[in-house]
Amino acid sequence: MVAKKQEIIVSGMRPTGRLHLGHFFGVLKNWERLQKESRCYFFVADWHALTTEYANIKEIQGWLAEMVIDWLAAGINPEKAVLFVQSRVPEHAELHLLFSMITPLGWLERVPSYKELQQELTGKDLSTYGFLGYPLLQTADVAIYKATKVPVGQDQVAHIELSREVVRRFNFLYGELFPEPQSLLTQTPKLPGTDGRKMSKSYDNCVYLSDSEPEATKKLMNCITDPARIRRQDPGNPDVCTIFSYHKLSTHPDALKQIDADCRTAGIGCVDCKKILVKSMNESLALFRERRGDIAKKPKKVQEILDDGASSARGVARKTLEEANEAMGL
Ligand code: SF4
Repeated sequence: MVAKKQEIIVSGMRPTGRLHLGHFFGVLKNWERLQKESRCYFFVADWHALTTEYANIKEIQGWLAEMVIDWLAAGINPEKAVLFVQSRVPEHAELHLLFSMITPLGWLERVPSYKELQQELTGKDLSTYGFLGYPLLQTADVAIYKATKVPVGQDQVAHIELSREVVRRFNFLYGELFPEPQSLLTQTPKLPGTDGRKMSKSYDNCVYLSDSEPEATKKLMNCITDPARIRRQDPGNPDVCTIFSYHKLSTHPDALKQIDADCRTAGIGCVDCKKILVKSMNESLALFRERRGDIAKKPKKVQEILDDGASSARGVARKTLEEANEAMGL
């Protein structure tokens, strides 16, 4: 019997703020599953953070440390996956440079998020090379480990397409070296913030993973519900209710069905509904919070994990870079 080839998976997270519920139930739950069956490289994308936060560097180090604590508390296991900080593996930057020689500018300019984010993040000058070139840096992040799969949300699929084009061009010009990475489409729940808008630190409407149980409870109890449900006897619509989106993350499917039906017939009031949510959410996060408390007390241990991860990642990255240099006659 031929053994199934192990997938190589690379995924990074930008340290641009504290992690919230969306990260836990979306990205981290997915990573936790992936690390069991594939060779995984999970990195803190601090260079990527600079593409938008270059004027805000003081905060990045703090966010970076807190982020790794969240990862470990969520069960991301350094025995199973390689965890490291991107800037500690400079081979990413060198491969990015090599790729930049063969990538037409137009390929980068037409990545949809380039224009979209420039319009969204007003107040920041994003007419920089770093910002234009970040999908190419992502390509290097992935190719340096010869990744076969990259977990992405729908909005990132265009980036993987670009990565595929770039490595195809490299392989065509200099010989087959890199596999074309495939998107591993991840169903990340689009989680609204406590005020019903997109969950974002700039709106101050996030439930953070580092929030204590009382803090999170207070936020959930104050959360907006179906805005059309004014009185207790009004039937509600769970499809437009923020609380119900949170229920979907942590409440048992049978209870969820019941809440859906009771809400539509005004059989349950919003306060009681929120109390059920608080209970299920706190239960879902209990182990995470316990681990987080322990890990946060051991910053040296966290640093050791990142040091070991960087050294293990560099071993692989250096080898790939040597092959790329050789292929390009350098
Ligand atoms: S009962 Fe629950 S699901 Fe229905 S509107 Fe109120 S909080 Fe939302």
